[in-house]
Amino acid sequence: MYGRKNTRVLCAFACFRIMNNRQPNDLKYTHSFDLYRLLILSTVAAVAALSAYQFLPKKTLQLLPYYVHNSHIFYDGQSGGSTIGNWVQQQALDFHCLSESEIESGYCGVSIQIKPPEAAIDFSDYRSATFNLTYSGPNERLRVKLHAYVAPMNTSESIEVLTGLDVVLDKSAVESDVTIPVSVWHLSDSHLLNTVESGPQMDVVFDLMSPIRAGEHRLQINQITLTGDWLPINYWYGVVGFGWLAFNIVFLGRLLKVQSARITNDANRLSQLSHFSSHLKEESEHYKTLSSHDPLTGALNRSGFAHEFRHLFPDSRLKMNTALLVIDLDHFKKVNDTFGHDTGDIVLQLCAETLFKNVRLNDRLVRWGGEEFVLLCVDTSIQQAQLIAEKIRAMLEELEIKAGSNSLSITASIGVAVSHHLEEFDGLFQRADKALYNAKEIGRNCVVLAD
Ligand code: GH3
Ligand code: MG
Ligand code: MG
Repeated sequence: MYGRKNTRVLCAFACFRIMNNRQPNDLKYTHSFDLYRLLILSTVAAVAALSAYQFLPKKTLQLLPYYVHNSHIFYDGQSGGSTIGNWVQQQALDFHCLSESEIESGYCGVSIQIKPPEAAIDFSDYRSATFNLTYSGPNERLRVKLHAYVAPMNTSESIEVLTGLDVVLDKSAVESDVTIPVSVWHLSDSHLLNTVESGPQMDVVFDLMSPIRAGEHRLQINQITLTGDWLPINYWYGVVGFGWLAFNIVFLGRLLKVQSARITNDANRLSQLSHFSSHLKEESEHYKTLSSHDPLTGALNRSGFAHEFRHLFPDSRLKMNTALLVIDLDHFKKVNDTFGHDTGDIVLQLCAETLFKNVRLNDRLVRWGGEEFVLLCVDTSIQQAQLIAEKIRAMLEELEIKAGSNSLSITASIGVAVSHHLEEFDGLFQRADKALYNAKEIGRNCVVLAD
């Protein structure tokens, strides 16, 4: 019976350890990810994303040749001057200007009208214009003018969307691509685009910068490229900011969820722990009782009595008037022999019950061994002890014991001794035991007082 209970306790303990060791993945995750790390990481990532803006791919729009609506050469020879301009190849926007002598205020150049067929093209998406030009001739400088506008449906007047850009380029600079920032686009709202006939238009003018040196000038416009950002910088900042916020909200939510799961888990473990602890306490009480009591009769065993005795008499010396009754069942062997050992056990239990009825609060009943009991009564005179012993003897004698179809009775012999001043237990016991021996000698079922 005790073995099984012991196993149950061990099992419960093992289960508890297993449950205790179990750590859900989420909880491990929590250890490595706290709020501060999360904030620092996401902020570093956001700053990195903001600085990465400059490395984002750019969107480009090559205006030549497809968006050229028309082109024409202008030169002062048309209005009485001496510079003459001619196309070398108009389609390739290749022209030359001839000047007999240096002219202080002459002009010669090409005007290109850019008109994308798609009305939806919005020049304001672009932040710079790059020109690829080939110039050969004596002039040191060239001039580029850029002018963009839209033509509304209802009026013949165009609306300027780019304040005239007028840039002077050195001859040496023209040898490679020349990039000019164009950041003055305005009136690019879609409602305006909806009112126009054919979307935005642009005029790009290249001419020789005065003074025009004498000789032959040849200029070819190879390419005009507009460059802009796929995503305006304010959009990018918005996207990164929103991403940062969303990321933190999501992870914060997750963190809270994990924390709440952890709290629930801890609470469960705590309740299991307290349950287990009370269970252990119960078990411990049980084993304590087992170790100090006789399981058959419930009386103290010798070890339990020794423990109690130390409490009652810390210096191991008995107080005056401590009575000891040594009670031995008469011819108990016969009971076993006649009715069997199990019946003997029942008789022992019933006798113990009877003895317990006579035990007061400070008295101690001990199963000393076999069918022998000891009753220790504090503050009890020899007369009182004799009365108690007589009463017990009579009660045991009157006990009617049923064992199956049989009924039997039992008697007991009792030796009684009361302590002398500062007497030790062994001395008292020996005197009581001797009295018991005398009781057996004179015929049993009697009480004998020690001298
Ligand atoms: P006496 O009157 O001289 O005391 O005779 P007795 O037969 O009572 O004494 P004895 O010492 O000869 O026998 C005691 C018997 O008690 C022997 C033993 O089998 C029995 N006994 C001891 N412990 C137990 C027990 O736990 N259960 C049962 N059924 N019998 C027990
Ligand atoms: Mg006996
Ligand atoms: Mg005996």
